[in-house]
Amino acid sequence: MSNIVAIVGRPNVGKSTLFNRLIGSRKAIVNEESGVTRDRNYGKSEWNGKEFSVIDTGGYVSNSDDIFEEEINKQVLLAIEEADVILFMVDTEIGLTDLDQNFAKLLRNIQKPIYLVANKVDTSERIYDASEFYRLGINSDLFCISSANGFGTGELLDKITSHFQTDSVESTDHLPRITIVGRPNVGKSSTINALIGEERNIVTEIAGTTRDSLYTRYNRFGHDFLLVDTAGLRKKAKVNEDVEFYSVMRSVRAIEDSDVCMLLIDATRGMEAQDLNIFHLIERNRKGVVILINKWDLIEKDNKTTLLFEKEIREKIAPFRDVDIIFTSALTKQRLLKALEATLKVYENRTQKLKTSELNRVMLEAIENYPPPMVKGKSVKIKYVTQLPTHAPSFAFYCNLPQYVKETYKRFLENKIRENWDFTGVPIQIFMRKK
Ligand code: GDP
Ligand code: GDP
Repeated sequence: MSNIVAIVGRPNVGKSTLFNRLIGSRKAIVNEESGVTRDRNYGKSEWNGKEFSVIDTGGYVSNSDDIFEEEINKQVLLAIEEADVILFMVDTEIGLTDLDQNFAKLLRNIQKPIYLVANKVDTSERIYDASEFYRLGINSDLFCISSANGFGTGELLDKITSHFQTDSVESTDHLPRITIVGRPNVGKSSTINALIGEERNIVTEIAGTTRDSLYTRYNRFGHDFLLVDTAGLRKKAKVNEDVEFYSVMRSVRAIEDSDVCMLLIDATRGMEAQDLNIFHLIERNRKGVVILINKWDLIEKDNKTTLLFEKEIREKIAPFRDVDIIFTSALTKQRLLKALEATLKVYENRTQKLKTSELNRVMLEAIENYPPPMVKGKSVKIKYVTQLPTHAPSFAFYCNLPQYVKETYKRFLENKIRENWDFTGVPIQIFMRKK
């Protein structure tokens, strides 16, 4: 179950401003592109205990009408495919425009919740101006908001999140759900075929022609698991300049729907910015991860090659370095079984529940030997620790002055946990709580 909201609308209506308000201080993933489209963003937000993802579909900065049409089509297409709720934003300062009409035309036939959002209602008088947007014929409530000062955004968020479940409930099915993610052409389809041994995906040399996503149960090598197969992109050759962006967006849903991701990197290219984007998506969604350096057969090696490769990647993914890196080839099937086993081990790591007594014995001793530094002459006393009953591992440390515990000390606690228990491939959260 993924909760994705897309903000669409013509340029300058305030989409990015709303986006930034929704994701707050959380960092966005920015997709920088040259050409006609502006940066686009993906980020996570939370309202009333419900987490969701936000896509800002960005703006358009060229003047040619043809390209504009194409651009709206792409934005709306993206929204239809990836979003669960669509916000169609218009601008009360400028009023109704032809471009808004163009968007409306495309949105009218979409069978998903669409909300018409009249932005820049900075003062209450503007509410009256907003009624002209009913003429767009979007069959939905009209929300008057000010992205700049926050007016009306609470009501809008209530409405948006009414479509979502709390705590993005994961499948009740206890089989590990594995996703193979990566940029176009890294070898996702080939890897799936090599693992599963069926020519189920059509493997081609052209990026973006893999067919629809599939979600299938397998029993291989004595393991039962589900494969979320989003071997990338559907037929999208015509939107070439967007292929990278689409692959990241596709990955969003796949990642959210899985427990552990095999992140494929092309050995001939190394880990580039977009690969790192996908890695951070996985980390931010607190899913398990194994990194596969695929096409290893194409690399000329000496006895230092793997070490250097690994070192470079760990530097890039820091500080979350506790991740398996496996050198594979879908072509020769080298280490694919190892990769699958590592993936299933990560699932185990991620689902383990530590015994409270043992956790306290080990951690309180570590804390005694290396207590949190004093702040303003006061010492922080950590009394006990428990693992919280969350899907992804998280730990609460109860103490007298939680606000005084710095990131570096939390990092120390996390490292101690990793030293004593196997959380390889699993992001961990550390909370300090008042006791
Ligand atoms: P986008 O192109 O749709 O993403 O629009 P932006 O978020 O970049 O906003 C375009 C312009 O509108 C910027 O100058 C914003 O500061 C301004 N803007 C955004 N929201 C509001 C608002 O609620 N009120 C006012 N007065 N200006 C706003
Ligand atoms: P996807 O877009 O990530 O699904 O990538 P594909 O599985 O379609 O592979 C893209 C291209 O890379 C195809 O031509 C594959 O034959 C080739 N390829 C995939 N894996 C390997 C590998 O391990 N070694 C070599 N040499 N080629 C590979």
